[in-house]
Amino acid sequence: MNTPLDTAKHQGQRKLLIDKLVAMGIKDSSVLEAMLQVPRHWFMDSGLESHAYYNKAFPIAADQTISHPYTVAFQSQLLEIKAGDLVLEIGTGSGYQTAVLLALGIKTFTIERQQELFKKTQRLFTKLRLKPKKVVFGDGYLGLPESAPFNGIVVTAGAPDVPKLLLQQLAVGGHLVIPIGKDEQIMTRFTRKSENEFDKETFGMFRFVPMLKDKN
Ligand code: SAH
Repeated sequence: MNTPLDTAKHQGQRKLLIDKLVAMGIKDSSVLEAMLQVPRHWFMDSGLESHAYYNKAFPIAADQTISHPYTVAFQSQLLEIKAGDLVLEIGTGSGYQTAVLLALGIKTFTIERQQELFKKTQRLFTKLRLKPKKVVFGDGYLGLPESAPFNGIVVTAGAPDVPKLLLQQLAVGGHLVIPIGKDEQIMTRFTRKSENEFDKETFGMFRFVPMLKDKN
């Protein structure tokens, strides 16, 4: 199987997108470098390919969306992770955020609750030779206790409240980055200070598809 094309035009458009992310306040150079490397158009339906480098969310399968590039950059930056760290992503979706984590050298675990998307994106990872540690069909509310503790957990769907099991699966010093709320969400970061202590910080409003319970 051939990997899809990444033309000079795509690369040029990506560079412009990265300049825009910088102008919007993204500072983490490793995140910017990773996003410069990952062809976002590979994670979108071919009909939308020409839009891949706009800073917009777009539909993928099963009524879900690929997150805005700015959102992916912002959440990745909030994780404060380094190569070799273990990160759990809730909401595999298109696989784009997963690919950005892999480009950062992260040992990436990812969970998706929609079977159709899970299968589609799992096939895409194989085609692109991307190797997350685990791609799981399951309910992200439960996390992945058998692979915990994680240096970071990133939830890419809007959670009505904080899943306690995810906090328990953080390593001390690790961050849970999670948008909390119903129609709109407050980007929230929990830091595990010790076994029983967590810090909480908030970072403005975002809009995500909902984090739903159980598999589908
Ligand atoms: N990270 C994705 C964002 C996809 S949108 C990307 O870069 O494209 C959010 C995804 O979260 C959707 O695919 C949705 O099905 C999934 N999701 C929602 N609730 C979930 C849950 N409880 N467990 C796992 N995935 C969930």
